[in-house]
Amino acid sequence: MDTLTFFSYLPMPDATHYIGRFAPSPTGLLHDGSLVAAMASYLDAKAHQGQWLVRMEDVDEARTAPGAADAILNALSTLQMMWDGTVVYQSQRTDLYLDAFDKLGRLAYPCGCTRREIVDSQIGVASDGAAVYPGTCREGLPVGKPTRSYRLLVPDVGQAEELIRFEDRWQGVVQQHLAIEVGDFVLKRADGFWTYQLAVVVDDAEQGVTHVVRGADLLDSTARQIYLQRQLGLTTPSYLHVPVITNANGEKLSKQYDAQPLDLTQPLQTLVKAAWFLGLEIGRVNSIEMFWPLAIAAWAGQRIERRSTARFKTDS
Ligand code: GLU
Repeated sequence: MDTLTFFSYLPMPDATHYIGRFAPSPTGLLHDGSLVAAMASYLDAKAHQGQWLVRMEDVDEARTAPGAADAILNALSTLQMMWDGTVVYQSQRTDLYLDAFDKLGRLAYPCGCTRREIVDSQIGVASDGAAVYPGTCREGLPVGKPTRSYRLLVPDVGQAEELIRFEDRWQGVVQQHLAIEVGDFVLKRADGFWTYQLAVVVDDAEQGVTHVVRGADLLDSTARQIYLQRQLGLTTPSYLHVPVITNANGEKLSKQYDAQPLDLTQPLQTLVKAAWFLGLEIGRVNSIEMFWPLAIAAWAGQRIERRSTARFKTDS
């Protein structure tokens, strides 16, 4: 584990053109963890006089909870976090994902492997904890095996583009070996849904997003997204991954681990708590109207503790 702690001012991007976004998966209500990601992306957009979009990531329709998208939008309104433009829903954008998939041509190939078969191949454990894909179906489906999913071919070790390197505004320089740490990754799942990796890349580009600000649990996905952007000829946005709240067992606070929904009966306290987690010093406030300008100013000028995460090597 490579952990490096140092202090620096948050590098600020050029304010002339900024489109940011908050992209919740409507699998449940917002909780303290998702509010931290929402707040960071909102503050960064506001600190740059940019636009802040909201996109519902309901591409995995099987996990979407009825009413959750509306409840998330209501919560944002209650907290006076107003988004620009119209909210988009990934479930209504599957044509865009199909177009992008078609553009990939032979880089996307059919795979007949089950999860069990991939785990049993024991080639390695990916940085996100899943098994690294051993490449079984790269040269074609084994005889008699039906297509289950479609995967994106990643370059072999040592080939150009295999090592993805980027500078994260919070985490510093991050690099990932796609072949070793991920393997060929899924674009279309066995249940027919497009994956998060494909949808997020297509949507960020289609919506003109210039700055992605989100939780560090997604740091691990970023190299895959950059690689996919390059294969599709898309521009790579700037990235900033804020630390995520974990429970006593070190697990990310999430609906899966019983995170409590936001307390919207006390919206100011809820905001103050999230700002505290982001390390913002805003002093005493007694209204939401007072909170936001102070939080934006604090974000713009804050001195942050940058900490590399365990799974990545950082060079800065
Ligand atoms: N939908 C993802 C989530 O709720 C966030 C995706 C992103 O910000 O790129 O965890």
